[in-house]
Amino acid sequence: MTPEEFRESARSALKSCGVADSALAGALTVRTPLTGDELLSVHEADGPETDAAVRAAHAAYQQWQTVPAPVRGALVKRLGQLIGEHKDELATLVTLEAGKIRSEALGEVQEMIDVCDFAVGLSRQLYGRTMPSERPGHRLMETWHPLGVVGVISAFNFPVAVWSWNTAIALVCGDAVVWKPSEKTPLTALACTALLDRVIAEHGAPADLHRLVVGGRAVGEALVDSALVPLVSATGSTRMGREVGPRVAARFGRSLLELGGNNAAVVTPSADLDLTTRAVVFAAAGTAGQRCTTLRRLIVHRSVADELLEKLTTAYRKLPIGSPLESGTLVGPLIDENSYRAMNSALDAARADGGEVLVGGGRRDVPGAPDAYYVEPAIVRMPSQTEIVRTETFAPVLYVLGYETLDEAIALHNDVPQGLSSGIFTRDQQEAERFLAADGADCGIVNVNIGTSGAEIGGAFGGEKETGGGRESGSDAWRAYMRRATNTINASGQLLLAQDVSFL
Ligand code: NAD
Repeated sequence: MTPEEFRESARSALKSCGVADSALAGALTVRTPLTGDELLSVHEADGPETDAAVRAAHAAYQQWQTVPAPVRGALVKRLGQLIGEHKDELATLVTLEAGKIRSEALGEVQEMIDVCDFAVGLSRQLYGRTMPSERPGHRLMETWHPLGVVGVISAFNFPVAVWSWNTAIALVCGDAVVWKPSEKTPLTALACTALLDRVIAEHGAPADLHRLVVGGRAVGEALVDSALVPLVSATGSTRMGREVGPRVAARFGRSLLELGGNNAAVVTPSADLDLTTRAVVFAAAGTAGQRCTTLRRLIVHRSVADELLEKLTTAYRKLPIGSPLESGTLVGPLIDENSYRAMNSALDAARADGGEVLVGGGRRDVPGAPDAYYVEPAIVRMPSQTEIVRTETFAPVLYVLGYETLDEAIALHNDVPQGLSSGIFTRDQQEAERFLAADGADCGIVNVNIGTSGAEIGGAFGGEKETGGGRESGSDAWRAYMRRATNTINASGQLLLAQDVSFL
């Protein structure tokens, strides 16, 4: 495809989602990682524009909070349908902007549909508890109310799914949303916004219930500092979370942080090595290593290390690397030159620490794309868990460490600053249970015989330590998007004070 054909494909996908041509002009240039070429340009908001969007969303929230939750759910149901109708075009934009292969781009859009379904069910299940009162004729209960405007800051590598995890849930919870997508992926954001705007109009909901503000750090900071944004849900690097978290806390706002991971899997002597190989290759090399849940460390029992590494290196050598538009490609490009440089310096640091690169690590030339960064996923055998292994490098580098006892493997597993996703490959139930136990893996996601990436939306998603502690998507993650009121109701006709206190 020529650069003009890329542009035409993006324009046509945007148009079919309802994005006006007038939105495709401005100072922010969008590039496709497929070739490095300029795709389109869009308007970039500034701080004051962001503040105005927040005020408008706040006014919309004041109406929306009084709409019954199941009626709010009906709007999200329609959003899910409309996304389904535009699945192809949205996936095309995800591929063009984020570089995902077709199957993963479609999977990301499917995740949006799934979370809409989940949120619709939730709209009739925003349960509060009732508790027995210690006073006769009294009742205690809790009620969940909408929170306000949710500021959503998202990363480039899940340009649409992360928005939907937040927005579908926030909308049924009665909140409004102001979204700042990654400055690297604003086109998918324009498409999602156009679809939601259409649903909002069809349902007669307040027009400013959802606002998009495209831009970089200044826009993010305006959301972070706004007193009208009680919850900032921020997905991105730990560096970003370190800046955002304290700023939101300083104004007593809440933040939901979904930050970097440094995910590991333990492979025990009883593991099914063929299943392990397939799981590891998808988790470590899929999405060109650019998932927060990408497998970055493999902790292998020494008795099976050689056999497993033989299978893995063989599979890595056969990986189809190239344009995600070619059918059969499994590994697309890195997002940009900075990612490529980060991968190279990580490999240099690993070699300096005594690491041996077993396979991959080079740049792959793809015809017609001299300015793109396609790389061969790398496997590096390390003598120990050095500083570079403890660091998240957002590229396909898998470090391999050996172990003798499961205690040693778990200690290595937990000895990193991040705590997102983990897995154990074993056919021994005792080993699996030990890994899942309180003193086992310390992550928010702990799997058995499954890789670290590719979560379903039904479970709460997020991680501990420098991953930020947030939980999104399924289970009871909705509670972060609401405020809880505890109610004591006195029907006794007398004033009885708690704890038998006497007064007046
Ligand atoms: P990034 O931190 O560079 O940017 C993420 C978002 O934060 C962007 O929208 C950016 O403009 C914004 N931002 C950056 N600094 C900010 C500041 N000071 N104030 C407000 N906003 C700011 O991350 P990226 O390169 O887009 O994404 C890759 C990173 O995201 C990786 O570390 C990956 O692990 C992480 N990630 C985490 C999850 C998760 O759920 N835990 C999901 C996806 C990506």
